[in-house]
Amino acid sequence: MSKILIIEDEEAIADLEKDYLELSGFQVEIENTGDKGLAKAMNQEFDLIILDLMLPGIDGFEVCRKIREEKNIPILMVSAKKDDIDKIRGLGLGADDYMTKPFSPSELVARVKAHMARYNRLVSSKQKTNDIVEIRGIRIDKTARRVWVNGEEKAFTTKEFDLLTFLAENPNHVFTKEELFREIWDMDSVGDIATVTVHIKKIREKIEFDTAKPQYIETIWGVGYRFKI
Ligand code: CA
Repeated sequence: MSKILIIEDEEAIADLEKDYLELSGFQVEIENTGDKGLAKAMNQEFDLIILDLMLPGIDGFEVCRKIREEKNIPILMVSAKKDDIDKIRGLGLGADDYMTKPFSPSELVARVKAHMARYNRLVSSKQKTNDIVEIRGIRIDKTARRVWVNGEEKAFTTKEFDLLTFLAENPNHVFTKEELFREIWDMDSVGDIATVTVHIKKIREKIEFDTAKPQYIETIWGVGYRFKI
């Protein structure tokens, strides 16, 4: 559940905002001074902060500035005075949105949802990870086209990499040399399937502890190969 921190000294407003946000499925906490709000924002994880400008102790300007030094979560600033909003914009404190009081609770909820959705998209796009295949000590990064065997990186040629990845992505499936040749060399059986044997041998030299007793790529006599899980 998404968590929101409201930093607001007017209890009635804070409670109203909290009620509406909770009805919309958010978890809400309230702090009523700049100092306490800032401390909570720094020490706990929130998904969005609603920050009043005029607060006892540290004011909203300073709270916003301090939070921004550490965190990039959305900050929605509210103030009773339109002039203040213009001032906040001018200062470039890094607030994501501004609202003038009084505002309708439904407008607040709509803005909160919009900012949270935008922020979540931003975060998830940054966290886009490489496509990894991992089997018993072998780690294949398909995006970077790199391979590690028990933590040690090994160099593979393009076709060796493609062949190893194909087998590892289809574990326990027995493929004939013809099938592997068609799959990796993409020439519909034109050429020499002995090249598959040569490549398997090269791959084994890089991934197997003992190539005479392969633990990963097994030879199925008279049929082909399979990657054992
Ligand atoms: Ca206030």
